[in-house]
Amino acid sequence: MTNSTAPRNHERTTDVATETTSPTVGTHRRLRIGHDRPIRISTGHRLLHHDGKCARPHGHNYEIAVTVEGELTAEGWVADKGDITQIIEEWDHVFLLEAGDPLVEAFEAAGDADGVVVLEEPPTAEVMSVVLEEKLRKALPETVTEVRVQVSETSELCGGGAI
Ligand SMILES: [Zn+2]
Repeated sequence: MTNSTAPRNHERTTDVATETTSPTVGTHRRLRIGHDRPIRISTGHRLLHHDGKCARPHGHNYEIAVTVEGELTAEGWVADKGDITQIIEEWDHVFLLEAGDPLVEAFEAAGDADGVVVLEEPPTAEVMSVVLEEKLRKALPETVTEVRVQVSETSELCGGGAI
């Protein structure tokens, strides 16, 4: 009896030691989200100083893909996919406007201030990809070393970092 208990305690101690020195934690990995099946959001915008149709308020069905690189955490992932999609979906069914656009005040006057996101630059697909990268970098763990976002406004227009 005493003999059989001692090895079990020893084994348990060994298991704990194995967990804390897991060989996968800290391993560099890449997580790709939305490349085959993009994250879709429907978002309004207008380009205030654009000499064309995009100067008028309108919207697009955006398709977004994300690549995240970093060290595996104890949870076994580079980042929680749900955290990433949640941040992107904050822009679903809202209107993106550049600071200084008179439409910002118009939305506020109409009681729809919470339906507007004001960016410092024109809300093009390229700017959206940069701002989303910044938002994700701030929200994701420090073990994440690289965040790249691609925003497709239509099948003909796509902006973002190399992913
Ligand atoms: Zn547009």
